[in-house]
Amino acid sequence: MPALPRSYRYVGPSDIRARVQPGGAGQRISCLADFERWAAAQPALDMADPFTFVIDTTGVLRLAPRRSEHVACAGGEPVLSAGEMTFGNESGRWTATEITNHSTGYCPDTSSWPAVAEALDRAGINHAGDFTQHVVFRRCHGCHELNIVREADFVCVFCDTDLPRRWNVDG
Ligand SMILES: [Zn+2]
Repeated sequence: MPALPRSYRYVGPSDIRARVQPGGAGQRISCLADFERWAAAQPALDMADPFTFVIDTTGVLRLAPRRSEHVACAGGEPVLSAGEMTFGNESGRWTATEITNHSTGYCPDTSSWPAVAEALDRAGINHAGDFTQHVVFRRCHGCHELNIVREADFVCVFCDTDLPRRWNVDG
């Protein structure tokens, strides 16, 4: 039996979570018709900007306007992945041109990509086969601050403690 994909709990500030409105979650995109309806409702200028996305625990892509909190997009629930996505349309075919796992609310590991690929495949949206930008989140054992590791420098920017090589944010 294939292992279930891991899910990520919200690990961000509790005051942001407290503002999540019931029923205010991001738009579910479970097929191309859903996406096209959603895309048609966005101002044309906005389509060049990244949108907030999560993959909910049923494996479905949910989209929300740029700068929306991931925890709001997810309706406060755990996710299989989260980040930002930009879309382009070439010859009538939709592609997610930029996809990152940048979500400081959920800090998903880069290994969450398969859940994103599956959700995009289901929605009939092209992608390049991986995140276009990988964000490496680690929790410092020393000061417990959240770090984004840059250029494979696994050292806490707050206290200089070495950071683990494996994802550990929700420890
Ligand atoms: Zn530290």
